[in-house]
Amino acid sequence: MIRVYNTLARALEPLETRAPGRVGLYVCGMTVYDYCHIGHARAMMAFDVVVRHLRRRGYAVDFVRNHTDVDDKIINRAAQSGVHPLQLSAQFIDELHHDLDTLGILRPTVAPQVSEHIPEVVAMVQRLIDRDHAYLASNGDVYFSIESFPRYGALSGKKIDDLRAGERVAVEQSKRHPGDFALWKSAAPGELGWDAPFGRGRPGWHIECSAMAARHLGDQFDIHGGGIDLVFPHHENEIAQSECASGHAPFARYWMHNGHLTLDSEKMSKSLGNIKRIRDIVHEVPAEALRLLYVDTHYRSPLPFSTEKLSDALAALDRVYLAKETVEEAVSRAGAGAPADTLNEAGRDVHRLASSFSARFDEAMDDDFNSAAAIGYFFELVRAINRFGNDKKARARGGGALLPAAEAFRVVSEVFGVGAMSPTAYFDEAKVKRLRAQGKDAADIDALVAARGAARAARDWARADQLRAELDAQGIAVMDSPEGSTWRVRVD
Ligand SMILES: [Zn+2]
Repeated sequence: MIRVYNTLARALEPLETRAPGRVGLYVCGMTVYDYCHIGHARAMMAFDVVVRHLRRRGYAVDFVRNHTDVDDKIINRAAQSGVHPLQLSAQFIDELHHDLDTLGILRPTVAPQVSEHIPEVVAMVQRLIDRDHAYLASNGDVYFSIESFPRYGALSGKKIDDLRAGERVAVEQSKRHPGDFALWKSAAPGELGWDAPFGRGRPGWHIECSAMAARHLGDQFDIHGGGIDLVFPHHENEIAQSECASGHAPFARYWMHNGHLTLDSEKMSKSLGNIKRIRDIVHEVPAEALRLLYVDTHYRSPLPFSTEKLSDALAALDRVYLAKETVEEAVSRAGAGAPADTLNEAGRDVHRLASSFSARFDEAMDDDFNSAAAIGYFFELVRAINRFGNDKKARARGGGALLPAAEAFRVVSEVFGVGAMSPTAYFDEAKVKRLRAQGKDAADIDALVAARGAARAARDWARADQLRAELDAQGIAVMDSPEGSTWRVRVD
């Protein structure tokens, strides 16, 4: 049984979906006028992991995440660059797909955008006017009347009367109540707008999610998600619009919200301190390090981001791939391994932790997607595997202990998208990106390693040692094998 923390109930609740085995999930996406940064990625990651785990547990997930492509910020940015707003937003939808694909964030089942749902928006606004939940104001905007919906405030805990408290003298006088919000904003000739029975204009921000959720998931569905900053007013307004337009409640049964990402400025390195865009980070760090950083914190908790944390995640990811290498080596020699009862202590630890891993992982994730606990179990296993891998005798003899660990790696890559690469591909990528981050050139390192190889071949040990020390000082670890020497960039 999966339990979900429901913001609306302020409690953990068992997930009971409208249709057995099926989840309708709507997540508020991004306003597309700039590149994705680490704050956006947190929300996208949080729900990516939710979707992946629900699918692992056998649910068919209808996952809708919108793109807000009509918005004042887009219109202003487009005016500055002299392009049409929808051209600007189309460009940034492409950039968003590029960034999220790089992070391994699965694409939603449907990714609707408001410019393609204007008829649905207009119909919903008209229905709200017809049912006396909305009114056309003197300035040409259409507002939702929050006093027409007694349950207004149920999600955020705000009270309609309290929303008057901060009222200033000059607030928009065309509103009946200061908390009323725009469903439709009138557009002047030449401004981005669409014709409607209540005047030419464009959708207010909140109505798009109500209209697109209804179109793609129905008037009522299972889970609505988004960042904690969206609880009020965005999600509160979505509930009001949707329930008043359809006459059905609840609009969404469960409301899930991810915590804020903040910048921990004391732990930001100077060189990387300004890097907040996804593409800049994955230029210098494998994308899985960022995924690992995110899943290491429960989705509801605040996440203080720092470059120190990113380095820690990268070092941890190296340990994951070292362990995966050991596991793959053991699996390739399957059958030659010793039975579990003849193993040394590290081998017995691996066997015990790996055999129970899937059950413990699912238990943690079923408990409101507790990825922090689940990844903790995984690192217990990774540490045991690396202890085992460092013991050459055990490694040669006891490969059988590692067979259940292969399944643990499969589960973690399925749900977290961590450890999904081949170790060789990972270490190659990490090498290139670390050198790039340090402003070094792989060809220079290759040349030093080759020179050392030549010195060794010529039995010039002093020269070989000197070159090794030089590489070591540059943070390069050289591994010698009968096939030749390879190298990695150490993580310190
Ligand atoms: Zn929304």
